[in-house]
Amino acid sequence: MPTNFHTHTYRCLHALGTEEEYVLEAIEQGVTTLGFSDHAPFPDHDFGLRMSYKELDDYINAVEQSQQKHKDKIEIFKGLEIEYFPKYINYYRELLEKRELDYLALGEHMYITPKGHIHNIFFAESTADYIEYAAAVCEAIETGLFQFIAHPDVMFSNNYDWDENCDRATEMIIDCAEKNDMILEYNANGIRKNLQAFNDGIRYPYPHEKFWQAVSKTNIRVIVGSDCHSPQQVYDEYMRKAEQMSHRLKLNVIENIFDGKKL
Ligand SMILES: [Zn+2]
Ligand SMILES: [Zn+2]
Repeated sequence: MPTNFHTHTYRCLHALGTEEEYVLEAIEQGVTTLGFSDHAPFPDHDFGLRMSYKELDDYINAVEQSQQKHKDKIEIFKGLEIEYFPKYINYYRELLEKRELDYLALGEHMYITPKGHIHNIFFAESTADYIEYAAAVCEAIETGLFQFIAHPDVMFSNNYDWDENCDRATEMIIDCAEKNDMILEYNANGIRKNLQAFNDGIRYPYPHEKFWQAVSKTNIRVIVGSDCHSPQQVYDEYMRKAEQMSHRLKLNVIENIFDGKKL
């Protein structure tokens, strides 16, 4: 039963395709459940590479329209991928309660450092930043506002040797996910970026084998996510590859992020 809960649209300014185009491709590929998780805006600040705040209603309406139109063929959920910044705690609640989103996926591309600065994890200055990133992810998990953690190992897209900080950050995220029964996402978009030469070997930027080997020693639920940025990626060869790799790792792969938990 192919599913995908990590879908972008043209609205985030670095993806192609309308909501309807993603749904049509998903139906074509036999996807039974599709979750939209475009990059969320914040009400008072534009962090870039995301929809504008004034577009949020249009996005929600467009997903709802597709939901109605295709309800006999596919189950559609409306969500957002969003960073956790403590000061927006009421905004996350508003998205879930007032705007009635089905879920928030934590995509912690940026985090607040202990000194209060906003830091982009794609530009880590050393592996010490991974510890700060992991702490921010754990804080987000503990709020209970997020349904799954998108690409929890995204920090490994930086090019550093594997060291004790890498072990520690991996351990922090895994311990926290385990304690809170949080779903981790095995992300196909890192595989789309192809194998590359890193200090610690030829590998994908993410998913990182070492991180997921550690996850495989636990019973943490894992969802495979496409993180598609064009309609033809909804359920493509990289998604199938990600599924194969996650099974080979003997991860506890689930098909639906709402399994075992009430909406
Ligand atoms: Zn992301
Ligand atoms: Zn994404």
